[in-house]
Amino acid sequence: MQPIQMVDLKQQYLKIKTEIDNGILSVLDRTQFINGNDVQQFADNLAAYLGVKHVIPCANGTDALQIALMALGLKPGDEVITPSFTFIATTEVIALLQLTPVFVEVDPQTFCIDPESLRKVITNKTKAIVPVHMFGLTAPMEEILAIAKEHNLLVIEDNAQAIGADYYFNDGAFKKAGTLGTIGTTSFFPSKNLGAYGDGGAIFTNDDDLATSIKMITNHGQSKRYYHDVVGCNSRLDTIQAAILNTKLKHLDEYILARKKVADFYDQAFANHKKITIPFRASYCSHVFHQYTLVINESVDPSGYRSKLIEYLGQQGIPAMIYYPVPGHKQIMFQQFNVSENKMPVTDWLTERVISLPIHTEMDEEQLNYITSKVLEFINQ
Ligand SMILES: *Cc1c(COP(=O)(O)O)cnc(C)c1O
Repeated sequence: MQPIQMVDLKQQYLKIKTEIDNGILSVLDRTQFINGNDVQQFADNLAAYLGVKHVIPCANGTDALQIALMALGLKPGDEVITPSFTFIATTEVIALLQLTPVFVEVDPQTFCIDPESLRKVITNKTKAIVPVHMFGLTAPMEEILAIAKEHNLLVIEDNAQAIGADYYFNDGAFKKAGTLGTIGTTSFFPSKNLGAYGDGGAIFTNDDDLATSIKMITNHGQSKRYYHDVVGCNSRLDTIQAAILNTKLKHLDEYILARKKVADFYDQAFANHKKITIPFRASYCSHVFHQYTLVINESVDPSGYRSKLIEYLGQQGIPAMIYYPVPGHKQIMFQQFNVSENKMPVTDWLTERVISLPIHTEMDEEQLNYITSKVLEFINQ
């Protein structure tokens, strides 16, 4: 049996090695390391795949979020609502720009913003909402967009974990996750569903003026060479990474299918178990399973149980992870915003109970049988 990893980038690379190597070699041959043709080609290909007017590549997913907020012209003190139950990048950039992060509860089933809680944290200072499509499941965007419209708020989708997911509207229309709000952002960190071989990110929008402004910000606020109109930054996608991503984009749908197959296998093994709950599948979107995250049920005391499970699996050569062990409202960096006074029982409850199993595009049935049997062995005790 192949050793089990959370993500197996090596096996995935070997399957497309010739294509990838040729792409990299062609960049070396042209020595177009910065802003080579591959970058615009990739942006165009991704825009076509997502059905969005503009894709602006940048250096990483954190920059993508920061640049999105900068382009929207938010001012220090403006409140931006975001889940506490997310990766730090989502919330960190809000504070970095001297905006005020306001944490909102997630739904314990979807792990995404809970629309009811969202209504409760809106004030007259609220300017924007940053929903996160957590673990590959899209947030309930139709409800979030309706609330945003009602209160005149901007919506920035953090789509680092759900690239390629479909969102189905009530009227039958469908769009790709990340293209529903004012701006969408993503990350091409190697372990993401569309991962580069280094850092990378992108920003999506259908708004022409915003696209112009985002492009300027990624390039030192430059309108024409050496003329700088706004304060920007230097955030580019490397040409070599763009060449790699151009190849991997062709395989994205096949990668999503492979992840779904893993999730279906786990679901079958663990469904209706009295100690754990399998990931929720929403009828309004397809799930692209960036992570396969189980929740330890209410009837089990999670303290001790979860770490014993992780330890047991580790001894059997099975990695398992906690995404994420500390929610935003408990992070020291945010205490300046008095967030420790926030009561976030759902987020705290989930933080104690989530556990993510290995999921990637190269898992085989032997590995899956082994993992499920070991998990069951522990939870059936
Ligand atoms: C990975 C990730 C990011 C940041 O991406 P980087 O490319 O590592 O900067 C932001 N938000 C979420 C939810 C992520 O998972």
